[in-house]
Amino acid sequence: MSTLTDLTIEQALEGLKKKDFTSVELTQAHIDTMDKHKNLNAYITETPDIALEQAEKSDKKRASGNVGLLEGIPLGIKDLFCTYDVQTTAGSHILEGFKPKYESTVTTNLFNNGAVMLGKTNMDEFAMGSSNTTSYYGNTINPWRRKDEPETELVPGGSSGGSAAAVAAHMCMGATGTDTGGSIRQPSSYCGVTGIKPTYGRCSRWGVVAFASSLDQPGCFARTVKDNAIFLRAMAGHDPKDSTSADKPVPDFAAAIDGNIKGKTIGIPKEYHIDGMPEEIIKNWEQGKKWLEDAGAKTVEVSLPHTKYAMAAYYIIAPAEASSNLARYDGVRYGPRANESVLRDMYDVTRAEGFGDEVKRRIMIGTYALSSGYYDAYYIKAQKARRLVLQDFMRAFEICDVLLTPPAPSAAFPIGQNEDDPIKMYLEDAFTIPASLAGLPGMVVPTNLNSQGLPLGLQIIGRPWDEENVFRVAGALENLANFTARPQTLL
Ligand code: GLN
Repeated sequence: MSTLTDLTIEQALEGLKKKDFTSVELTQAHIDTMDKHKNLNAYITETPDIALEQAEKSDKKRASGNVGLLEGIPLGIKDLFCTYDVQTTAGSHILEGFKPKYESTVTTNLFNNGAVMLGKTNMDEFAMGSSNTTSYYGNTINPWRRKDEPETELVPGGSSGGSAAAVAAHMCMGATGTDTGGSIRQPSSYCGVTGIKPTYGRCSRWGVVAFASSLDQPGCFARTVKDNAIFLRAMAGHDPKDSTSADKPVPDFAAAIDGNIKGKTIGIPKEYHIDGMPEEIIKNWEQGKKWLEDAGAKTVEVSLPHTKYAMAAYYIIAPAEASSNLARYDGVRYGPRANESVLRDMYDVTRAEGFGDEVKRRIMIGTYALSSGYYDAYYIKAQKARRLVLQDFMRAFEICDVLLTPPAPSAAFPIGQNEDDPIKMYLEDAFTIPASLAGLPGMVVPTNLNSQGLPLGLQIIGRPWDEENVFRVAGALENLANFTARPQTLL
C-alpha cells in the first residue's frame, strides 16, 4: 500500500477511476506516511479523522458518478486558510486555539471538488519569513540534507515551508500555499517540488488570514506541473466575497501543457544576475535556457531596470499593510487573552505575548511608514516604485512570452543561518518579490541538484492571466530536466 504515496495526483485520479484503490486507502497511506515523518514538523494540526470521513464520502460520491476535479485526493492545507471548526493558527501564538466558524473560499472550492484534508501545514508566523523558523509551533525540517553534512538540518524555505516539505516527503499529494513575496516559489525550490503562484486575483483571499492584502495570493504545491494545473483549476475562480478576486473564467490549465514551445520567446532578465550568486545557480539557469532553446524556443535578454528597488518597496508596502491587518488581534475576538484588569493593558500584554519578534518588527516598520509625515516619503514612494517594476515587466512582455529566472539566490540553508541578520534573510526573496509587486503568475520547477545534493529550481514568470503559457513552458522544462531525485532521508 505504501506505493500509493508515490503516485502523482494525475495517476491517483486514474487509479481511483479504475477502482484500483479507494480514496480511503489512498488517504490512509498518506496518514501512515505523516506518522512516519512526524519529526519534520510539517503539520501544525493533523486531521486524520476528518480526512478519513471525507475520503469515505468521496468514495460514495464517486460511486454515484459525481466526480470533482480532485475527487478523493488527500491534500495538506496551509494553516493560513480558515477551515471550519479546525484550529487555524497562521503559525502564531495569538491564534492558538482559534477554530473558525467559516470555511475559506479556496478550501470550499477544493472540498466541493472532492479534495480530502490531511491537516494544516506549518508556516512562518503570519506568513512572514523565508525559512519557516518564525513559526510559534517550531520550525519545519527540510527532508533534504547536504551530502557532506547529513546531520545538519536545513530550512524548507518559507513561509509555506510545511506545505513544501509535506509534498516533498510524500505526506500529501499536494498542498495549498500562499505567496506574498515568494512564499510558494522559494520553498518549492528549496524542497525540490513544483509550485505556482497565480496572477493576483485568480484565487479568492476570502477566509485566508491576511498579511499584505495587495500582495497575498493563494496557490499550490504538487510534485508535477500537471498536478499543479489540476489543483489550481480546482481552487481558483471568481468570488463575490473578495473584491480583488477577478471575474474571469478559469481555463483548463492542464490542456495548455502540450509540450510545444516552438516559437515561444523566453526573456532572460539581466538584472537577476546578482553579485556573489553561487556559480551553480548561474549554471542551472544557463542550462535551463539551453534546454528551452533546444526544444524550439527563442531566448532574448531583457532588462528590468527597476528590479533593484523592488525589495525596498516590498519591505515598506508589506509591513504597512500587515500593521493595519494585524491590528485586529487584540485578545477580544481570537485566541488567548492576557489576564489584565485594565482594557488597555489587556491589549498590550495580549499582543506582546501573542506575537513573535519578526511580526513585531514588521508591525513597527509598517506603523512607522504609515505614520503622519512619513506616509508620502515611504508608502507613496514605495507604491510609485511598485508601478515602475510593473512597467518594466510589461515592456519585457512586448518582446517575450515568459521570463526564465532562478527562484532564489541559494539552495536550502541550515536552520539558524541568517537568523541574526533580517536583511540577509529578506534577500532570499530577491527573485520572487518583483513578480509579486507586479501581481504576475510565477511557477517553480525543480531542475537539478547542486554539488551538495540539494535541489535547485527555475522560475517561469508570465503575463497577467497567462498561467497557460507559464504551465506550457514549465511543463516543457520539467520534461527536459527530468528531475527524479528524492530526499536522501526518505529513501
Ligand atoms: N519572505 C517574504 C516575507 O517574509 C515573503 C513571505 C510571503 O510570501 N508570505 O515577507
